[in-house]
Amino acid sequence: MALSRPVLIPISHGAKPATLNAEVVDAHGSWLSRSVRRWIDTAASDELDEATADRIDWLRTAPFIAMHLACLCVFWVGVSPIALIVAAALYVVRMFALTGFYHRYFSHRTFQTSRTVQFVFALIGASCVQRGPLWWAAHHRNHHRHADTTRDPHSPGVYGFIWSHVGWFLTPRNFRTDLSRVPDLAKFPELRVLDRYDTLVPVMLAVCLYLLGVLLKHVAPQLGTSGGQMLVWGFFVSTIVLFHATVTINSLAHRFGSRRFNTRDDSRNNVWLALLTFGEGWHNNHHFFPGSSRQGFRWWEIDLTWYGLRLMSALGLVRGLKPVPAWVMTKARE
Ligand SMILES: [Zn+2]
Ligand SMILES: [Zn+2]
Repeated sequence: MALSRPVLIPISHGAKPATLNAEVVDAHGSWLSRSVRRWIDTAASDELDEATADRIDWLRTAPFIAMHLACLCVFWVGVSPIALIVAAALYVVRMFALTGFYHRYFSHRTFQTSRTVQFVFALIGASCVQRGPLWWAAHHRNHHRHADTTRDPHSPGVYGFIWSHVGWFLTPRNFRTDLSRVPDLAKFPELRVLDRYDTLVPVMLAVCLYLLGVLLKHVAPQLGTSGGQMLVWGFFVSTIVLFHATVTINSLAHRFGSRRFNTRDDSRNNVWLALLTFGEGWHNNHHFFPGSSRQGFRWWEIDLTWYGLRLMSALGLVRGLKPVPAWVMTKARE
């Protein structure tokens, strides 16, 4: 299959020709229905039109934009301590699912776990609105293989900051999951279902948060919350902040920070990004040796995901955490 090669081409959906023949209307109609069907079922009409494969599909992207706008509803629903606590807790749990499992487990296989724990964290990861585990891991493996070349889907050096941060995954080519990159994961039908119907879990989380808010308003009115507040803070704000924090690793962590290892890419170590993303900011470490469960290689390099995985290992939930081999540090500049 052709590899990702984003090209920034001016979007022309708004500029329709003055006369539309039946063929154009048909093509437009099928684009419309295909994009909308793919909101729900990512496998719907999977053929790729090379002419538009690397342009942003604005209709398919509409829910993603709407989620950003929904954050503005904080001005209508107000705020309460419980809403902020729920939003923060969901950030913490879901960031850990992304870093510990979507990244260090599914993408790099740096430890083992049971099928049940694998599914639970795939489920939590799926609630982050960053697509399914197969999609995430397939693109991430592609990133490591071709980091900071034209075949890297999100290199800021090649395609610019905006594209690497928020553009690359909005194109038909990158909506797809390249299963040939993830045969070890694709053999689990439950993961394939999460990947195919990737809006299901986020929608369920949003509904549950709304109902929780309605319930709390009735049983504990002193908390000052509501269904709308829990939905906006707990789902929309938490998810959008989580999203932008995650993708700083694609954009900023290949631009700003120090380089301990002489890797072929432009990856950097950045303490601020490491704090924000629970350890992922030690990105130059990670690109040099992606096979470790740990990304902060020195004792002082705070890596909350590593501490969390150590705890899970002590509880018997995961096993075989891979440490940093001694030879790796002999290649370090500092
Ligand atoms: Zn990277
Ligand atoms: Zn990685």
